[in-house]
Amino acid sequence: IRLEEERLLTQTRLANANEDLKRQNGKIEKLALTDSLTELPNRRAMIGYIESEIGVLKRKLFTKDDRDSFKGFTIALCDIDFFKAINDTYGHNCGDEILKTVSEKLSSTLRPNDKVARWGGEEFIILFPDTTTKDATVISERLRKNIAYTSFSNEGTPFQVTMTFGIYTCQTEEMDLDACIHKADTALYAGKEQGRNQVIINTENL
Ligand code: GH3
Ligand code: MG
Ligand code: MG
Repeated sequence: IRLEEERLLTQTRLANANEDLKRQNGKIEKLALTDSLTELPNRRAMIGYIESEIGVLKRKLFTKDDRDSFKGFTIALCDIDFFKAINDTYGHNCGDEILKTVSEKLSSTLRPNDKVARWGGEEFIILFPDTTTKDATVISERLRKNIAYTSFSNEGTPFQVTMTFGIYTCQTEEMDLDACIHKADTALYAGKEQGRNQVIINTENL
């Protein structure tokens, strides 16, 4: 009886240790996919999301019924305008606070299935699964306005922050991750050239 009790005890302890390990692993995995400043998913996480959307796209294009109602997915690359000047004027800490505020505004304005990540520096990326260019543009415009109309301040000095958005909808099976990003980036660059604080669509493919 004693032996049996000890065996059960050891089994319970092992099971608990195992659960603990699983929890710790989950935390580590989450940290590896999260940007520490903004707490948004990071570039690596977004690469995973987009790769999985490309998988969905390929499967749907393969099935005739799905192909007819297929919208593809849309991505928006969004970059804060003149951020270097903002840092130079108000300091790096203030710049960090802006990145956090912008992150909150982006995530709270999106629909539940949309995903936003910090792509790097002052650049963010949004993935709109199963969404047309038109719908993604409406949401991006809402985000752009939400940020442009927010009053930021530093030691009592109010100032505005604007962002430029580059949009691209992926609908063909030839597309890969780099090609999608590149096409959204071309639109973003055009938006910067044309005066910033705007949403530009890359219409190749439409
Ligand atoms: P544009 O309108 O063309 O985008 O100009 P910009 O000044 O925003 O672009 P640029 O690429 O010249 O500068 C980006 C700046 O973003 C420079 C860099 O110091 C700043 N930055 C990048 N990451 C961070 C960060 O984590 N915190 C802060 N405070 N600044 C950052
Ligand atoms: Mg910028
Ligand atoms: Mg940039």
